[in-house]
Amino acid sequence: MGRIRVLPDQVANKIAAGEVVERPASVVKELLENSLDAGSTVLRVEVESGGRRLIRVSDDGCGMLRDDALLAFERHATSKLRDVKDLLSIATLGFRGEALPSIASVSRLVLETRSGDEVTGTRVEIAGGKMLHCDEVAQAPGTAITVRDLFFNVPARKKFLRSEQTELAHIASLVTHYSLAHPDKTFRLTSGAGELLAVTPVGTLRERVFQVFGGHTLEELVELGTREQQLMLPPPYVPPSEAIAEFRREPEEPSSKTFRLSGFVSRPQVQKGNRNSIFIFVNQRLIRDRLLLHAISSAYHNLMPAAAYPFALLFLECDCDEVDVNVHPSKTEVRFRHQSFVHDFVRDAIRERLIESRPAPAFSPAASAQPGARMPYSEFSQMLENEAAPAESAAPEAAAGPGASVDAAPDALGAETSLPDFALRPAAGPALRLDFGGTPLALTSEPAAAPRLRMPDTHGGFPADALPVSDASLGALSDLRPLGQMHESFIIAAGRDGLWIIDQHVAHERILFERVLKQRASGNVETQRLLMPLIVQLTPGQQIEYARIADELNATGFETEPFGNRTIAVKAAPAAVGPGDLERVLNEILETAETELRGLSLEDVRRAIAASIACQAAIKINTRLDHAKMEWLLRALAATDCPMSCPHGRPIALRYSTREILKAFHRI
Ligand code: ADP
Ligand code: MG
Repeated sequence: MGRIRVLPDQVANKIAAGEVVERPASVVKELLENSLDAGSTVLRVEVESGGRRLIRVSDDGCGMLRDDALLAFERHATSKLRDVKDLLSIATLGFRGEALPSIASVSRLVLETRSGDEVTGTRVEIAGGKMLHCDEVAQAPGTAITVRDLFFNVPARKKFLRSEQTELAHIASLVTHYSLAHPDKTFRLTSGAGELLAVTPVGTLRERVFQVFGGHTLEELVELGTREQQLMLPPPYVPPSEAIAEFRREPEEPSSKTFRLSGFVSRPQVQKGNRNSIFIFVNQRLIRDRLLLHAISSAYHNLMPAAAYPFALLFLECDCDEVDVNVHPSKTEVRFRHQSFVHDFVRDAIRERLIESRPAPAFSPAASAQPGARMPYSEFSQMLENEAAPAESAAPEAAAGPGASVDAAPDALGAETSLPDFALRPAAGPALRLDFGGTPLALTSEPAAAPRLRMPDTHGGFPADALPVSDASLGALSDLRPLGQMHESFIIAAGRDGLWIIDQHVAHERILFERVLKQRASGNVETQRLLMPLIVQLTPGQQIEYARIADELNATGFETEPFGNRTIAVKAAPAAVGPGDLERVLNEILETAETELRGLSLEDVRRAIAASIACQAAIKINTRLDHAKMEWLLRALAATDCPMSCPHGRPIALRYSTREILKAFHRI
């Protein structure tokens, strides 16, 4: 007799559960997705003990007919696919028909459901994959699924669960983000008696972000609006023989596909130590995708330190047949048909918007994020973190130079790097920034605001026009009036909308960086001939890098050539670099090429060269500037594309808004 057997369904389901149900949050995800697919508008999630003891998801969706309620627990039973063709354009979140049987095989599950077409509902009870009861019940249309004692029959899995708080945080993050993808629906998440999230329908994503994260976070973000791009596809290929036969027919129009991107990204100053705050939805499905993560990082290239990550909440919409979602059982990975198009579209859309909006760092009062939104974990980003860590854990830039005091270094938990911050605000509670990425789980309420004393207004009112609506844009840089210098390193300036502090070194660095790149692009580089060629010794590593980037160096204004063994002669250099600094600049460029850029594109090499030149040539800190120089610097900075951060990602300008100043003086 043969030795191969077909596994009974019960065993197969348990195996599938290994992939589909990793932890309580995966159950919540599958159930929420089912509720969304069922067209629900009110979704409730209740959990106990981080979902280990109980998860209950109830909805007001289409419900199930009695027969379907039983069928739903069969393996590969789904209402969402009919044949193999449908697989190519999946418009629902579910399609594999695996979730319910998988969950039911590793828990005690009760399904209560009623379709609007039937007068009574159905209650199905299953434990460890075995059907226990199936009864009629009276209930309103919709579905409720209760999952108790997850993994009660898989002790090995149960052991791997993390603390209740961690599991709860994963769930909170998940529900929060699904609520962001569906602003038109009601979401509620409760843990025991505590409410973690409660949002009612609103008209826009912006309002939903406000509901979930609070006004402060909204201020830290830049809204993308809706960005669109067409992908032109060549007409379908017709073999010559058929073409002749059909030659009378009109030639087919080249078809096109529209890709749409919307959502929010953070200002470059909001720097996270990991990707936990990046959420990407493709056709409303929360996914993780290296391609898109890379696109986001590239958008922040030279705006943020290499090891920092932004907050991003992105919604990409495209034709269902442009994206394959059937890549992994948990449906969190996708594959795009036109990968490089999608990558470049996302990168450029974000970057263009950042350049357009020139967001300025602001100093704002405490946030009022919902407790669930402040939980630090997400299943997807956590997994990503684990995967991506070795490849991209470049050390953050050494904090040297003028930016050091406000420079970003990941904190001990690697959770969040600090925002540029100086305590001009009255000492209230701790500053709440984009805290959903980093604060420890805190279900307690906000720290109580310090009691405000009522003060007689003996100083007269404040002129109304001094209180412009705060638009935290660096566009305002162009009308700043320099007041003076602090420590001969920072320019203090007054503008219509408040007080500014500008780091003179990094400001100049940004100006020079963009100038060098522009000159390079137009082939119009200012160079200086050296009276005597400078001979530079190279290490063996530098020698290899030199060979690779020599052309690029020469295009940026250097004139270098090999000069014997491991030596090069430099005959000319970019005008910005003083002869005394030349050797240092070259060494730095070759060093960067060796450590960071190996294997990266020429474009990256070009930017690194420009950054090195800019850094060496920029005005140093501890340098006195006269009024005219300060004015020039502010104008030139205002004229750059990205006055937000220096090429290494440090912030350039801090703003203390008039509103904040008035608040701090208790005038408003
Ligand atoms: P899939 O979502 O991949 O189809 P599932 O195992 O998650 O597979 O669900 C099986 C089927 O059960 C679904 O196709 C759907 O018809 C039905 N179903 C599950 N949850 C709900 C719900 N909340 N409301 C209505 N129908 C549901
Ligand atoms: Mg499903």
